[in-house]
Amino acid sequence: MKSELLKILRESPEYISGQQLCGHFGVSRTAVWKAIRQLKDEGYKIEALKNKGYRICEIPDIMTAEELKSRLHTEWMGQNCIYLESVDSTNTCAKRLAEEGAPAGTLVVADEQTGGRGRRGREWTASKGSNIMMTLLLRPRINPGNASRLTLLMAMAVAEGIQKVTGLPSGIKWPNDIVVHKKKVCGILTEMSSEIDYINHVVIGAGINVNQECFPEEIGATAGSLGMELGKKICRAELAAEILGELEKLYNIFLQTEDLSALYQNYNRLCVNRNREIRVLEPGNEYTGTAEGINEAGELMVRRADGSMARVYAGEVSVRGLYGYV
Ligand code: ATP
Repeated sequence: MKSELLKILRESPEYISGQQLCGHFGVSRTAVWKAIRQLKDEGYKIEALKNKGYRICEIPDIMTAEELKSRLHTEWMGQNCIYLESVDSTNTCAKRLAEEGAPAGTLVVADEQTGGRGRRGREWTASKGSNIMMTLLLRPRINPGNASRLTLLMAMAVAEGIQKVTGLPSGIKWPNDIVVHKKKVCGILTEMSSEIDYINHVVIGAGINVNQECFPEEIGATAGSLGMELGKKICRAELAAEILGELEKLYNIFLQTEDLSALYQNYNRLCVNRNREIRVLEPGNEYTGTAEGINEAGELMVRRADGSMARVYAGEVSVRGLYGYV
């Protein structure tokens, strides 16, 4: 009831009477009043006028399950939402829930992450209360060998969600970093539990720098936040809901073929490496070339100086621009 109440209050330009709300939810006036009081306790500013009813006048930037669900337009992604004020890692929590039988589409969201991780065990830092830290649990009936492509879907969903909500020109640094004005604003970590031919579960975590205002020195040159690039605060729940909506659409398309045949052109339009000189950093091997975009398998096609084409598989590889991060 709380998430629907929030949606009604937010979308109504006028006061809504207690009576109307009682009728809508089929509950008593006291029940409505209690729900309103709970929302006020959480930080929502709600005006209550005798003979007129309720009106919301300030929406705090919070990422609770109710706030997020009140903004979701998905059929199933994120509808089972677990919000935690603080957690070691949303991916670790989602994996635990998956082992316990949580359904596909379960979303873990946290306001603070104390042990955030990136690829290859690297650290993901994020300040409390200003970023999106979320992990989606999926149980796709696909070949485990194709699951790494899901990471690329999340990258597209984040890039497109950012563009829609903020208007910022977000792009993807292959395979799955999101950049705005050459700054990394999001990292994505996909982890899987599988048998040889069967996926138990996949968790896809996204850490998005939304309203963070400064970064530790080590990453200061490459990291940025959407708020810093836009010059104003952004509503985290609105952005997270938009991303999940995009992802659900992309996922349905992906499942039809298990590859990116219907999506790679869209990915390439967003890819900031495309037609640029890059350095490919493979463990123990580094080379340069021109990135020509991804193919239907999600591999990066890199034209080397001798004219040969390298197909780069995401696994252990990073790419950089010739003179900087992008
Ligand atoms: P790349 O290939 O560009 O090195 P990656 O995909 O391997 O990136 P991730 O797993 O996305 O890296 O993230 C981990 C790295 O991101 C860290 O090693 C650090 O350099 C950087 N990083 C950590 N926290 C943040 C943050 N909040 N914003 C931007 N960058 C960060």
